[in-house]
Amino acid sequence: MILELNEAQKILKKNARDFLEREIIPIADEYDRKYHPMPKDVALQLLHKLHPLGYIGATLPPEHGGQGLDFVSFGVLAEEGARAYLSLGMIAMIQDSAIMPILSRDGTPEQRAKYLPKIMSLENIACFCLTEPDVGSGARDLKTTAIRHGDHYILNGTKTWITNGSIADVAVVFASTDPSKGARGISGFIVDKAESPFTTRELPKLGCRSCPTSEVTFEDCRIPATNLIGREGEAYLIALADLMQIRVSAGMAAVGLAQAAIDASVKYAKERKQFGRPIGSFQLIQEMIADMVIITEAARFICFQAYYLLSKGQPCFREAAMAKGFSTEMAVGVTSKAIQVHGAYGISEEYPVERYFRDARTLTFPDGSTEIQKLIIGREMLGISAFA
Ligand SMILES: Cc1cc2nc3c(=O)[nH]c(=O)nc-3n(C[C@H](O)[C@H](O)[C@H](O)COP(=O)(O)OP(=O)(O)OC[C@H]3O[C@@H](n4cnc5c(N)ncnc54)[C@H](O)[C@@H]3O)c2cc1C
Repeated sequence: MILELNEAQKILKKNARDFLEREIIPIADEYDRKYHPMPKDVALQLLHKLHPLGYIGATLPPEHGGQGLDFVSFGVLAEEGARAYLSLGMIAMIQDSAIMPILSRDGTPEQRAKYLPKIMSLENIACFCLTEPDVGSGARDLKTTAIRHGDHYILNGTKTWITNGSIADVAVVFASTDPSKGARGISGFIVDKAESPFTTRELPKLGCRSCPTSEVTFEDCRIPATNLIGREGEAYLIALADLMQIRVSAGMAAVGLAQAAIDASVKYAKERKQFGRPIGSFQLIQEMIADMVIITEAARFICFQAYYLLSKGQPCFREAAMAKGFSTEMAVGVTSKAIQVHGAYGISEEYPVERYFRDARTLTFPDGSTEIQKLIIGREMLGISAFA
């Protein structure tokens, strides 16, 4: 159980916060209004700024070219990134976690040698393609197929809601190599756009507007058989392992958003005067801020608990689901209260809290909806799966 950051983690947090307050927060609102989504050159320019802080390959082992940070430190970076600018935090999080942990665990030495350095150095942007237009929560029913022809697979199908899809050079794609086997027929592939072209279409959305979210289509897309990850039929478990980690980071991103909303509300409540006094002196405003702080701190502890278990290499499906489900719903409530503290100015683009609210509302779906997180917790507690 983690109750306090160690000295190195505190320094990491301070350095990240100082940098993000100086370089990213001042441009976040302007970029959010301007870019739907952010063009690739702008995303790359910002990712290169984040790179020295440890955002890319954070927990990847040094022998695979990564930064070798522990998961709690990664959580610190996830919170600070989201507090600054969630759209950029999401682009960075997918670059970090979409492919590299999978190749580090399940890739061949050749796959690692070819792709990890390019993703680490940002020469390649990565994305994770699981969801399809007709297959969301029930991911084991994938319709995208990959049929073997000699030393290639032919990939056909459409993925949707893919973060970084339109700017990606390389995708990890989950497809059925044997539809008769259901989840046991799902295989994972590295799809390198330069060798195996695919098309994309951007999906405009309520929040995280400057983070690309795309439909990705594969039409008779030829993939070398050497790009199969692990063995045929093993990828459903590979996807679940990756999602366990990504869920905790989505939860921590929600904590970062909620913290941003608290910071903005405290500042505003001290400055804004009504009835000749700062609104922060009114008890009902203080109650709102107190409620925001209590629930954000509770979510932070839940997320750090899950990161701590990840650091120990322990499976933590229950804790990851709690982190994602609780924290993202918490952030919807906290950012909504932040708007209330700001009065009408809260819904204007003059203040960042409307962005925080839209971004928080968007976070309850990626990596499994709130309902799916609850069903995972229920399954872990009861030993009975609602999905069976
Ligand atoms: C911003 C954003 C980024 C994303 N990024 C990616 C990405 O990079 N890669 C990727 O593969 N996907 C991505 N997704 C997709 C995301 O994983 C899906 O949206 C999610 O899994 C839910 O699927 P769905 O939206 O199709 O909803 P559905 O599965 O159709 O669900 C609709 C509703 O029914 C509920 N529901 C479904 N099944 C059950 C059940 N058994 N019991 C109770 N309620 C149920 C859901 O909770 C939801 O409320 C992203 C989504 C968003 C919004």
